[in-house]
Amino acid sequence: MSEAVVQQIVNVLGEKRTFLLTTHIHPDGDAIGSVLALRAALVQMGKACEVVNTDGVPQLCSFVPTCEFILAQPTCARADVGLILDCSGQDRIAAPPEALAACDLRIIIDHHQSSQPNADLNWIDPTASATGELIYELIKRLPVEIDATIATCLYTALATDTGGFRFSNTTPRVLRAAAELVERGADPHKITYHLFEERSAKASKILGIALSRLQQDCGGRLTWSVLDRATFDALQADDDDIENVVNFVRNVRGTEIGVLFREGDDGRVRVSLRSNSRYDVSRIAEEFGGGGHRAAAGCRLRTTLEDAVARVLHRARQVLAADGPSSPMNHQPLTMLS
Ligand code: 5GP
Ligand code: MN
Repeated sequence: MSEAVVQQIVNVLGEKRTFLLTTHIHPDGDAIGSVLALRAALVQMGKACEVVNTDGVPQLCSFVPTCEFILAQPTCARADVGLILDCSGQDRIAAPPEALAACDLRIIIDHHQSSQPNADLNWIDPTASATGELIYELIKRLPVEIDATIATCLYTALATDTGGFRFSNTTPRVLRAAAELVERGADPHKITYHLFEERSAKASKILGIALSRLQQDCGGRLTWSVLDRATFDALQADDDDIENVVNFVRNVRGTEIGVLFREGDDGRVRVSLRSNSRYDVSRIAEEFGGGGHRAAAGCRLRTTLEDAVARVLHRARQVLAADGPSSPMNHQPLTMLS
């Protein structure tokens, strides 16, 4: 099934001339690295490409080579092929719908469990740790040399979605791909420094605030934190500044489900869910109109912060109550510190 679709995609990339590449809104390193690696490969093949993301490039990814080619809006009237990478939902595509509708053919390449295969060609492989892993496998079949730019883009994608090759999706397959990318010029130290260690002063402060507000329930198996509008406004912080904060919430010892609630400036509450992979948090996210992966998922609720917290935690408690505590440790709930 996937072999046939991959071959069809290889054929289309060889035959067609012009391409519009896009990914999801609020793009991460997998999204940015995947589109830029495929762009570089298509450019090597002599194709015309435009990369669009209506949200632009996050500060976190500003080190990725060729990110200056990502446009907020398309400039070409139409392209032969629209490529949608790492995007699990129709409402998350970061390109104007009319630009994709104008393409002769649309292709989705994705690794989300909750992906909706509604394009002309759909390559969806939830066993891949990152969309970048699929793009690596695709590029290996193209008449393209993996140069340092492609290697850096793809390594950024793999490192992002595996949390620097530490999460439960770190497989021999992704490590083999990463090894070849290092041979081809990706610098693991530099890339993972930018992705996971370097933080702006604002991001460091907001991490501190989020951690100081940790709350727990279900004997410590459920841990969450809440960032309200006033906190963002006081620091003049935005979404870029809370990247990875939810992982610190999940990493509190004994936690099986970690949740970060963030009050947006658009009347919506963004919810990030993480699990220790025993629980499938994408199911919880889907119930609220979101999606993602077993161990990392998210959703946005158009409601008040208090209501979003109450509803999502209610479902998380039910999920955890369904099969009882998994460890004999008795965790005391933390008190709210601020
Ligand atoms: P994050 O918590 O880092 O924003 O997202 C974690 C995962 O959940 C990512 O794979 C992301 O694609 C997915 N995700 C986050 N928010 C949403 C959402 O609103 N809808 C869908 N379908 N997926 C989401
Ligand atoms: Mn991804």
